[in-house]
Amino acid sequence: MRIGLRRKWKMSLLGLAFSVAGAAVVHADTATKAPRVVASISPLAFIAQEIVGGAEVPTILPPGGNPHSFEPKPSDAKRVQGADVLLVIGLGFDDWALRLPAASGERKLHTVLASRGLDLLPLEAGHAPHGAVRYAQHGDEHESSDRHQEELDPHFWMDPVCAVHIAETLAAALEEVDPAQAVAYRARTEKFRARMLVLDQELLAKLKPLQGTGFVATHGGWAYFARHFGLRQAVVLQEGANQEPGPRTLKQTIDAVKAQKLRAVFSDARFLETSARIISQETAIPIVRLDLHGASANAKDYDTLLRWNVEQIVAALR
Ligand SMILES: [Zn+2]
Repeated sequence: MRIGLRRKWKMSLLGLAFSVAGAAVVHADTATKAPRVVASISPLAFIAQEIVGGAEVPTILPPGGNPHSFEPKPSDAKRVQGADVLLVIGLGFDDWALRLPAASGERKLHTVLASRGLDLLPLEAGHAPHGAVRYAQHGDEHESSDRHQEELDPHFWMDPVCAVHIAETLAAALEEVDPAQAVAYRARTEKFRARMLVLDQELLAKLKPLQGTGFVATHGGWAYFARHFGLRQAVVLQEGANQEPGPRTLKQTIDAVKAQKLRAVFSDARFLETSARIISQETAIPIVRLDLHGASANAKDYDTLLRWNVEQIVAALR
């Protein structure tokens, strides 16, 4: 499963023309009573809305919110009321969403873990885990792992291969909840896959001149993105809570920028503006303002989320 993902992606490139044609033929949007999906964060909602077809998928985290420190209010429980499926990241990242179903008394809600079956990366060494709650992923018991779930990096949605896999995971869950529309879920998944393959080619081409470029991340959200697009998240200042690092960490980071010829500070709007500015001033590398959740781009879909970030990077480092 783990090894298969990337090979499957490459092979899908060959079948792209076919799959676009296939998706165009099967476009059966027979809108009976579609299951209602709620997602913990906006990138998951973007992916989910491709698969449910039509309806906008609400999120539990409000726009601009910090998923690493979010504490839902009792009133947030109403966001999952009447929902059939809750799509979450897992790995301890959005346990606040997992607590809501119980709080709202919504018992027949199906929880879908987006992280299931993905080729996950460890959190950067030395950075705090996201959550204290530990739990096994269903179906993953056979995978031998000496790593606790919360020591894995949860920002996998920034890799389009993972995004397509999340779409597949959700589609499989929706087929179980709503077997009558199985064909439609599969067709939409194929359509999304085909679009992602095209988008991926576009973005890979844009980033090609920057292959191997190392950067400092104020927030460690770019490891999967970097892995996929051939960049290097060389230094992570902070994972999780929004606390500026001390002078020693800043000095080490500035040294690393010089020694490793790092070219940018990737800054997420939610995190460590002051540190980003100091590093940039001391080393004369630019701050690239990015957004892992699409709020700065005012993104309404996954394509915009990914493309906007790539364009910010290319514009700053060209
Ligand atoms: Zn994050």
